[in-house]
Amino acid sequence: MSRRLRLVVASLNPAKRREIAEILAAERLDAEVLGLADSFPGLALPPETGSTFVENALLKAAIGRRPEIGLPAIADDSGLEVDALDGEPGIFSARYPHPDASDEERCAAILERLRGVPPERRTARFRCAAVFVTPEGETLLAEGICEGAIAERPAGSGGFGYDPIFVPQGCETTMAQLTPEQKHTVSHRGRAFRALAKKIREWAAARGG
Ligand code: IMP
Repeated sequence: MSRRLRLVVASLNPAKRREIAEILAAERLDAEVLGLADSFPGLALPPETGSTFVENALLKAAIGRRPEIGLPAIADDSGLEVDALDGEPGIFSARYPHPDASDEERCAAILERLRGVPPERRTARFRCAAVFVTPEGETLLAEGICEGAIAERPAGSGGFGYDPIFVPQGCETTMAQLTPEQKHTVSHRGRAFRALAKKIREWAAARGG
């Protein structure tokens, strides 16, 4: 008899967790998706010591292998790459320009460094590595990219992080001015988790789930 897949989202960022849950719900993945903080309170994620988005996502998802959890885990690592800043802040996006900065301060720091940079040189992209890791160490990976540009000033209050200063390619507004559904359609996280959901479905089907 096949049992419904249970998995845990290895993220302590509530905005990101909400987005992952919304994307997976829209994909109708037949799985019970547990939040780390709600279902396993007090467990800390390991430090992000990897040198790529994939390495950091794998570090987070490994928490599902701990005996207290023992469930497949999904995680993402994501960030903003600004071409005029040689790809910064990249994997350091959550800690830029310093670990305690607010989202507003992070956006202001990028805008300050891009002051005077003309529109054609303000290109940037969000990148997301999404991973699924079982307690046995089976691993599925998917990546998503959202190309765009850095606005002249912040606009909008939706989303999180750098959304108020990022204009996705083909959009007239910042990511923070889109509805959640519109954001998921174009976002790096939407693309990565839709691809990951497809791989999880195939993995579950192959083992009779
Ligand atoms: P991490 O993946 O938890 O290391 O954090 C990634 C950081 O990149 C977040 O804290 C945000 O600052 C930024 N980021 C990642 N995805 C998004 C997004 O969808 N919108 C805006 N900022 C994002």
